[in-house]
Amino acid sequence: MMNDKDKVDRVKKIFEHYRTSGDWDITEEEYDKFCDWVAYLKDEHIVEINEEIYFVVLGTAEDGLPTFANTVLLETEKLKNKKAIVFLSPLVFRWDLPPMPSGHPAYPLVHEIAHGILRREPKNREERDFFELEADELVKRWFEDP
Ligand SMILES: [Zn+2]
Repeated sequence: MMNDKDKVDRVKKIFEHYRTSGDWDITEEEYDKFCDWVAYLKDEHIVEINEEIYFVVLGTAEDGLPTFANTVLLETEKLKNKKAIVFLSPLVFRWDLPPMPSGHPAYPLVHEIAHGILRREPKNREERDFFELEADELVKRWFEDP
């Protein structure tokens, strides 16, 4: 499964502000990977995700070490109308895919996005397990044929 380059380029434009604003301290390669993963989603879902989710992406700093934490100034303006914040750890970019649970190349990212869209806060282990399945169900639906 491969993305077409135009779509990946469009996604890169949509999320560019995170890099130019300095919120994401990630390498070019990691940014490419992020955008490639997002580009697996249908356009309608990319629009929805961009509107509803604020991303905090931690990557690999220039010295080659992972960025373990970042102080991101979450200005009210940036979070306005967002439903959730999705944090991605640098590990996400180090996973070599496949195999992931769903076998989908974009799985680690879209699974977290699904949690953000569903806005669940588990109160116990049972609920957490259920919300994991629920997120995967949503991911499945996103990749179903129209
Ligand atoms: Zn999960």
